[in-house]
Amino acid sequence: MTIAYVGIGSNLDDPQAQVMRAFDELAALPRTRLDARSSLYRSAPVGHADQPDFVNAVAALETELSAQQLLQGLQGIEQKHGRKRSFANAPRTLDLDLLLYGSAEIDAAGLQVPHPRMRERAFVLQPLLEIAPELPFDLARCRDQRVERIAICREGRRYEPAVEGVNHSGRKRAAQLHAPDLGVERDLQQRALRRLDDHAKASFIVP
Ligand code: ADP
Ligand code: MG
Repeated sequence: MTIAYVGIGSNLDDPQAQVMRAFDELAALPRTRLDARSSLYRSAPVGHADQPDFVNAVAALETELSAQQLLQGLQGIEQKHGRKRSFANAPRTLDLDLLLYGSAEIDAAGLQVPHPRMRERAFVLQPLLEIAPELPFDLARCRDQRVERIAICREGRRYEPAVEGVNHSGRKRAAQLHAPDLGVERDLQQRALRRLDDHAKASFIVP
């Protein structure tokens, strides 16, 4: 059994739904168990800026597949999501990167592990360190990159809008952010908005 971490990204065709589906498909890989799902994060595109924001997450897997077999599995899932390879940093329905495969260091033609660019990317490190805080990576190196947590995995495979840190003046923005575009059930959205209301009320209480 090897613990592997997979970076997930999408910025086309309902990115949140693509990411959530990808988690389920990773869980269904042969000889593999899905151990953890990170929160979903929103990040600005890297390189080619004229494209939609990305939704990013990281999955922790326990697998008996070799690193090469796992990469093939990841590419098979990408293809099921209609991934087309056009140009570097192009928009994509689904990108699955093998970030870490145990402590292996691999430098083969089609597979480098640890993933060569992961240390410079906040949208990788933030979700990775969320589910594996013991790993020796430093987010401070990419402090200038903004990633915004948009949904938290609560229990099992259920995601709930992330509302922490939102104050009264942020309410409208948060409501816009969470209500129309999250792939979560409506009652969860309503609950999140009620919590925002409570928060707004609390902020009016004079100490
Ligand atoms: P990127 O993720 O860098 O935007 P692609 O997803 O198009 O680019 O991947 C390009 C190639 O990177 C793939 O054909 C794959 O063989 C190779 N590759 C090398 N190392 C890895 C890795 N650790 N995880 C995923 N793909 C990798
Ligand atoms: Mg990739």
